[in-house]
Amino acid sequence: MTHNAQPYQPFTRNNIQTLPQFKELDKFTQHVIRVVSAVFPFRTNRYVVDNLIDWSNIPHDPIYQLTFPQRGMLNDADFNTVSRLIEAEATRKELQEAVTAIRLHHNPHPAGQIEYNVPKLDGETLPGIQHKYDETVLFFPSRGQTCHAYCSYCFRWPQFVHMDDLKFAAKESDDLVRYLKRHTEVTDVLFTGGDPAIMNTRALRQYIEPLLIPELEHIQTIRIGTKALAYWPQRFVSDADADDLLRLFEEISATGRHVAIMAHYSHPKEMSTPVAQEGVRRLRNAGCEIRTQAPLMRHINDNPAAWAGIWHNAVAMGMIPYYMFVSRDTGPKRYFEVSLAESLHIFRQAFTRLSGLGRTVRGPVMSATPGKIHIQGTAHINGEKAFVLSFLQGRNPNWVGRPFFAHFDPTATWFTDLRPLSGKPHFFYKSDAVPA
Ligand SMILES: *Cc1c(COP(=O)(O)O)cnc(C)c1O
Ligand code: SF4
Repeated sequence: MTHNAQPYQPFTRNNIQTLPQFKELDKFTQHVIRVVSAVFPFRTNRYVVDNLIDWSNIPHDPIYQLTFPQRGMLNDADFNTVSRLIEAEATRKELQEAVTAIRLHHNPHPAGQIEYNVPKLDGETLPGIQHKYDETVLFFPSRGQTCHAYCSYCFRWPQFVHMDDLKFAAKESDDLVRYLKRHTEVTDVLFTGGDPAIMNTRALRQYIEPLLIPELEHIQTIRIGTKALAYWPQRFVSDADADDLLRLFEEISATGRHVAIMAHYSHPKEMSTPVAQEGVRRLRNAGCEIRTQAPLMRHINDNPAAWAGIWHNAVAMGMIPYYMFVSRDTGPKRYFEVSLAESLHIFRQAFTRLSGLGRTVRGPVMSATPGKIHIQGTAHINGEKAFVLSFLQGRNPNWVGRPFFAHFDPTATWFTDLRPLSGKPHFFYKSDAVPA
């Protein structure tokens, strides 16, 4: 199948009024988009708008909820403050001051990521690298800190101030190599962002090639975390350097390493277009294994049919269902949050519809400060209803794979809301004196 090269065309707060579908929206909805996008970053693109959103179903359409700012993302007071300033045609400076104040009381760095996980080498901290679990290093290339569209709930928005500095990139890549040479326990390097697939192939190659040297034989897997298969599958199909990108992946495989694409899919609609399917086929033909993951979000995929659809399609297309995450503590969390009890219900309803090939997926999973915590189910322990939990990854590897219990709280939305069972002073791992 051939696809005509379609240019990537973003829409942001600055040019959204030129989008035909925007002009068709009612005045209030247009105003909401202007107000909320003054606070939270907003970017969508022509492919998403024309192919993934059903414009007869606004505001309920899941991909509209995923990529457009929503009224519920701001509380009434904040919404009214910004709304009044915009209606009064306030100066840029006035608007900026109000927006900065609002942003400050949202939480941009959940789960202790910043404080605990940035490693040091010879006394120097290495920005752009996180090393939390022994086997896997996360790498945030500075040139990959944006995405082809933005998810409305994304907690990474402080990063979306784009830094496109070649010199810095070279230093980063050098730091990563020096760090990995000293850390032979690391088997996986996960390129994340933003979206590393936003980079052109030359830039990505500049980061990846230095990792393929014999001294880094312990690096067995290069993982690429990306939402481009959903937001801009042309990246792997018809972009000018799409073939080069696939060649780079083939070169990695030729060194005996595994290329794992960690594909962010929020909804089966994202897998429905011919170009999205062609992107998957081409990556697989280049030797990549694709694993799917996403958070469970209110208004976007808070129903079993969405998840069963993602996992069914994944298996049919030759991808491996991997994680369903619980929506984490992000800026506009209230609007998107789903309780742990409901998350578990949705997960099980979808999971039970799959053959064994789809049951590679783990969920619901909370990526929290002590580790990745899997909500395995509920049980009654001495007559008390409990969540059954276990660590899939732990700040301390000894915590992994040991089931433990928390008092069942139907309103809990995050790990920090959970308490031990009656009569237990703390969870088992607390004794390790590590911040929870
Ligand atoms: C999820 C995660 C990883 C990767 O964990 P896997 O279970 O191997 O996929 C690595 N580092 C951090 C900080 C993570 O949150
Ligand atoms: S693709 Fe990932 S990094 Fe980009 S906006 Fe969505 S959640 Fe955030």
